[in-house]
Amino acid sequence: QPPTQHSSKYYMDLEEKFGAFNYAPMPVVLSRGEGSKLWDVDGKEYFDFASAYGSVNQGHCHPRIRDAMVDQMSKLTLTSRAFHNDKLGEYVKFVTEYFGFDRALPMNTGVEGGETSIKLARRWGYNVKGIPENHAKVVFAEGNFWGRTLAATSSSTDPTSFTGFGPFMPGFHNVPYNDLAALEKEFKEDFNVCAYMVEAIQGEAGIRVPDEGYLSKVKALCEKYNVLLIVDEVQTGIGRTGKLLCQEYDGVKPDITILGKSLSGGLFPVSAVLASHEIMLQLKPGEHGSTYGGNPLACAVATEALKVLEEEGMVENARVMGERLRDGLRSMNSELITNIRGRGLFNGITIQERGGKGAYELCHKFMENGLLTKNTQGDKIRLAPPLMISSAQIDQSLEIIEKSIKEF
Ligand code: PLP
Repeated sequence: QPPTQHSSKYYMDLEEKFGAFNYAPMPVVLSRGEGSKLWDVDGKEYFDFASAYGSVNQGHCHPRIRDAMVDQMSKLTLTSRAFHNDKLGEYVKFVTEYFGFDRALPMNTGVEGGETSIKLARRWGYNVKGIPENHAKVVFAEGNFWGRTLAATSSSTDPTSFTGFGPFMPGFHNVPYNDLAALEKEFKEDFNVCAYMVEAIQGEAGIRVPDEGYLSKVKALCEKYNVLLIVDEVQTGIGRTGKLLCQEYDGVKPDITILGKSLSGGLFPVSAVLASHEIMLQLKPGEHGSTYGGNPLACAVATEALKVLEEEGMVENARVMGERLRDGLRSMNSELITNIRGRGLFNGITIQERGGKGAYELCHKFMENGLLTKNTQGDKIRLAPPLMISSAQIDQSLEIIEKSIKEF
């Protein structure tokens, strides 16, 4: 594509001068995306191995999702929930059948899905479990990440997330991730626990894959102690791990599942909370909502994004391409990479520091050679391209990774 009128520096300077410093992006200014590729303002091409933190599973600017969006936005975009619209009913029917839950509550961002789930769980705790009012407790895993609101910040064990933002939400507790004994102790010692909220694979913590069967054992503990299981599939869901939902690896049906990100294929924010009749019906009119939640545009876009995912075989492709990617990484036998893990196209590698340089510098090398991703937790790099990536593109990406490691 032709270079834009301005240099990268021009755009970065504007952000620096007029924006807030709540992000430290890689020094690249992107202006176009298609499928698994991105282009910067100078016309340089990259493979996208970040996928907007798992939000463009269907590939950038998918034409079918775009057309559904354009079509709907020329008819009706927003009514608020003060009125019904002709899209919401069909959408909640479609999305609940698609994922196998009774009911769906539509929101916009992932973090709102988390907030909604906690409200539902607390309400269930009081009305159904019989927890004394204002005493409900929610347990989270250490290393969790589910957004940046004050509730999410309150549950975080990452000092960068919470330092200087107190006082925090009461009734939140943490246990180590992937530690069933610690979880059981928490449940056993306090009747007031209403829910355990957990990611199927921890994303921001560095793609931490739990032991096999972790989630099914968690579910069994939840049943034993009458605690709701909330699984945050905002990043692991929508085919990312090679199953429609990552929970399927454990054959688990949580009480509440949270979806976001790729639910809209990356076109704009759409999230959803999926639950049973019993849990969802704890909310009465006026007790929860969002101006944009369930808007007709979101319903049309999410419906098409889910149809595309299924009809174009992206879930299975993620599983196969993920294996190809991890096999290729392993066969490099690089001393720089100390660990390779993941499911489907949700992968992480850990990088050994060499001469004061590590994962951050390696990401810059990848960028130089035409592949974009970002390190997390210092020494970890996520490798998570869109799910429609082809085997030839995986091989090209592996070549870029290998070349970058050699030049490092
Ligand atoms: N949950 C998980 C597992 C996430 O990774 C994220 C974002 O990265 C969120 C929730 C929050 O989503 P959002 O940024 O749309 O609020």
